[in-house]
Parts: sequence; structure tokens; C-alpha cells
Amino acid sequence: MKIDLENLTIRKAHEHLLKGDFSAVELSEVYLKNIEAHNKNINAYLEVFDDVATQAKETQKIIENKKGTILTGIPIAVKDNILIQRKRASSASKILEGYTATYDATVIKKLKSAGAVFLGRTNMDEFAMGGSTENSAFGPTKNPHDVSRVPGGSSGGSAAALAMDGALAALGSDTGGSIRQPAAFCGLVGLKPTYGAVSRYGLMAMASSLDQIGPFGKTVEDAEILFNAIKGHDPMDSTSVPDEIAKRNNEVSIKMTIGVPKDILDSPGIDALVLKNFNEEIAKLKGKGYSIKEISLPHAHFALSVYYIIMPAEASTNLARFDGVRYGLSKKGGTPFDDYAKTRGEGFGREVRRRILLGTYVLSSGYYDAYYNKAWSLRNLIGKDFEHAFNEVDIIATPTTPTPAFKIGEKNNDPLAMYLADVFTVPANLIGIPALSIPSGTVDRDGKKLPLGLQLMAPHFREDILFSVGKSIF
Ligand code: GLN
Repeated sequence: MKIDLENLTIRKAHEHLLKGDFSAVELSEVYLKNIEAHNKNINAYLEVFDDVATQAKETQKIIENKKGTILTGIPIAVKDNILIQRKRASSASKILEGYTATYDATVIKKLKSAGAVFLGRTNMDEFAMGGSTENSAFGPTKNPHDVSRVPGGSSGGSAAALAMDGALAALGSDTGGSIRQPAAFCGLVGLKPTYGAVSRYGLMAMASSLDQIGPFGKTVEDAEILFNAIKGHDPMDSTSVPDEIAKRNNEVSIKMTIGVPKDILDSPGIDALVLKNFNEEIAKLKGKGYSIKEISLPHAHFALSVYYIIMPAEASTNLARFDGVRYGLSKKGGTPFDDYAKTRGEGFGREVRRRILLGTYVLSSGYYDAYYNKAWSLRNLIGKDFEHAFNEVDIIATPTTPTPAFKIGEKNNDPLAMYLADVFTVPANLIGIPALSIPSGTVDRDGKKLPLGLQLMAPHFREDILFSVGKSIF
């Protein structure tokens, strides 16, 4: 049987594998061929693993013995900041040159036992800092919908891998939008799970109070299948939430009212066509029978400023471990201090150095109260706004991004313009709530059709509502 990659989903592939229409080996071969044809141009993968055929053969045996799961034999791509034992992992940074992971991240352990096949590790903004994948030490990734444009970031490699049919699903990480924004730019579904729903063990930390690993899929159901496989309590991550708590919340009844927050939609810099597209999506939801209610999130416009204080503070602390002694690159400068300065000065890229400086500054004595503590107070107020809103509505909807995919190079020398692209995505990370981006059609730009995304946010642990509303319109 000829494998139609474009229309393949996890469920369809699973059914074909069970029926024997094609084998896991054949399926992975088709993907490898496609990667070979497109990766040179798109640069989605930093490495394609040399043991894909072996992995696929093993999973094929499991399928034949009828011992598999829905993910057995499914080829997936993994962001380069998630550890896979005995594979290189670099967070797209020169500082991790030559580093090989010594253990599996919990999500990888879970996917291995579900029988997934790992195709390779994908490009990203260095240490997940960015929104375009241009901050990779290994060159930018291109958007398969228009190769002159970015795929979004920081998980741009994972999104582009899927969009070029170089994987059936993928893992990314989302600290301020890094799954949802590339999903929107590449016409995919992307989920940032509730903080604590998925273990962060084995994810290279960017900002520990914001980071979550999550899935990319071509359909809402595919994202749901991958999320179900990776979620769950993990004693190795002290912020991962016990399963009883995640489950108890799922028993609350729902009435399905969708809130539209006028305050954030009025932010400057939002493309008129994005707003038009968003209003059409809201009309579509109304047509499906959902009630639409205007809501107010009075502190939400502070979210971006709060994020860009808390995130660098945590990132600068987390990145202190890259000292030239423990991992990767090691430069000699004379004294131990010089070794440290030389390794970090040469090993980290510009954006990472900028955030380390910013983070160190906001944590320094005298500025801690003025910036960091103030940001935390505002983070709490934004949380209260959402709590109040969720007393009135079940879901809050916004566009995922203020613009469609921008040109490679367009914002790279203007960090503030790049940061503004995160305006809709950062609130969910600050509060810890789940958020899903689903494709909402395209806009025409320079003769190309550029995808847009609709973001749906729900209360903590209510991924179920996101999937159900998401499936009803996409
Ligand atoms: N674009 C955001 C940033 O640069 C989000 C990054 C992320 O989610 N990892 O911080």
C-alpha cells in the first residue's frame, strides 16, 4: 500500500499497522526518505538517528505479537532539549558540544514503553530562548509553508518536521509559547499542558516555574494521544502533580461558555487580518452552539513584562551549571574564573548572553525588590484575573499570535519586536493553565498561504475541555 503521508494521522497509521497494510519499518522508511529530500532546505532536524530501522523492527515485532499501544511504530521527532539516553542533546547550543545524554527524560521513557519510534532531534532556538528558531547555533529552520519565513520558535524544528511530513508527531517544550506559536505558524495543533501535568525530568531547564513539555500533532486527537502518553505524576519532578489531583478536577461539570478577553485583543501590533480571522473563529464557535461572553482580564497587559523579568531570572540561574567543567565545551583561559568566562563567552549565543545579563541584573541586590518581587506580585494578580474569569466561562479564546509567520531576519536584530510576538501565549505559562493552539485557516501574503492559530485556554488540568472544543471546530 502506498503511504499517504499528507493525510496520515496517528490513529490512521495505527489502524494500518494493525491490519498489516504497511509495517512500522516501511512507515519509518517513508519518513526517512522525506527527511532526506527536504531537510537540507528546511533544517528541521539537527540529527536523524542512525538506529531508526532497528527501533522500527523491534516495534513491528510488538505489533505482530498484538502487544502494542496506539503509539507503537509511530515515528516522532524530539526537540533537542529533551534527553534520550545515549543520544546527543545540545539545546542547539555550542556550549553542549559533544554532550551525550546519560539517561532518558521521563517523557521519553514513557514513549519508549508505548513503542514510539524516535526519528531524530530537532532544531530550536538556543536553550529555547526565542520565537523564530533563528537563535540556533546550527542555522535557522525554515517554514515549509514559505521558506523565506520562520517556522516560529523555540520548537520550530519540531513544527517544521511535522509540516514537511518528516514525522507524524513531535515533542516540544513551552515556556512562553514555544509549542503554540510554531504550531500556529506551521498549521499544526500544539498543546502547552497544565504546569505539573507532564514531568520536566530530563528537559533542559530554561525557566523552571514556566517550562512544560508538550505535543505537536496534525489533529487535535493526535495531540491528545501524545499528551495522554506523556502525562502523569513523576517522583523525579517535585512540581509534577499527583494523579489524584489532576483527576479530581476532571469531575467538575462543564457548561461551555467561551470568554473573549477584550483587554488583550486591544494590544497594539495585532495584524488586522489576524483579528478578522479570530472573529470568524468566534462566529464559528457560536454557530456550534457555544455561548460567547466578553470578559475582562485587567492585569493581562502586564503579562509580557512580567514574563520577561521572571523568565530571564530563572534562566540565568539554571544556565549557571554550564561552567565548562561538567558538560560539553571547555575552554582554557588561565585561571578557573577565566576558564568559566571564556567557555561561556564563546559557548553561548547572543540571545542567551542577553538573557543571562538581564536575569542576573533583576536578581541583583537592590533590584530584586524593584523588578523580581514586583513581577511576582503581578503574576499573582494575573492569576486572580483568570480565576475570576473562569468563574464565568469554561474557556478563554485569543489568537495564538499577533501576526502570521514573519520573514527570516525581519525581527532578529530587534529583540523587543521578537518578544512582542509572545503577547497571547505567555499568560498561560505564568498562571500554569493548559493552552491549545489549533489551525484557524490561512492568510495570503506574497502569494503564499500562511497558517494562523486559535488559542484556547482552560482552567488547570482541564485539557479535556480543550480537546473537546478543539475537535468540534477542527
Ligand atoms: N518566545 C518566548 C521566549 O523567547 C518563548 C520561549 C519558550 O517558550 N521556550 O522566551
